[in-house]
Amino acid sequence: MSEIPFWRRKTLAQMTPAEWESLCDGCGLCCLIRLEDEDTGEITPTRVSCRLFDAEACRCTDYAARAQQVPDCIKLTPGNVGRLAWMPLSCAYRRLHEGKDLPYWHPLLTGDAQSVHAAGVSVRGQTISEATLAEPEDAADYLAPEWLEDRSGD
Ligand code: SF4
Ligand code: SF4
Repeated sequence: MSEIPFWRRKTLAQMTPAEWESLCDGCGLCCLIRLEDEDTGEITPTRVSCRLFDAEACRCTDYAARAQQVPDCIKLTPGNVGRLAWMPLSCAYRRLHEGKDLPYWHPLLTGDAQSVHAAGVSVRGQTISEATLAEPEDAADYLAPEWLEDRSGD
């Protein structure tokens, strides 16, 4: 049996579904609404979360049926992770795709699902739901502070 953990000896495409899912640290950063400038393509994150996001649990409330509930929720795959430039720098999928290791606070290393929150990386308790906005355009009033996205995980 190899002593090397799966995320260091397998590519993303070689991982089992369970291994793949365990890479998600539950930071919630990818569940924030992002605004795209029609002219420049520039993407700006907001503090507004998807309507299915539970701000305190920092989790999707219907992960299994998310595609039906939120059609524009992008399903992350080994094939598209490299094309999603807006994915947070700290995201394990992005980091492994870029040849980096997991960050020190990742639950797979700490054995503690709370370590992502303790490290201050997650958005737990810091978002507002898009369901509370009067109009979708109001998300522009809640642009995310820089620290929300600029997290390398190092
Ligand atoms: S940004 Fe990555 S690690 Fe964080 S919740 Fe999304 S998929 Fe999981
Ligand atoms: S549907 Fe769920 S996983 Fe997708 S963005 Fe919304 S809260 Fe996140």
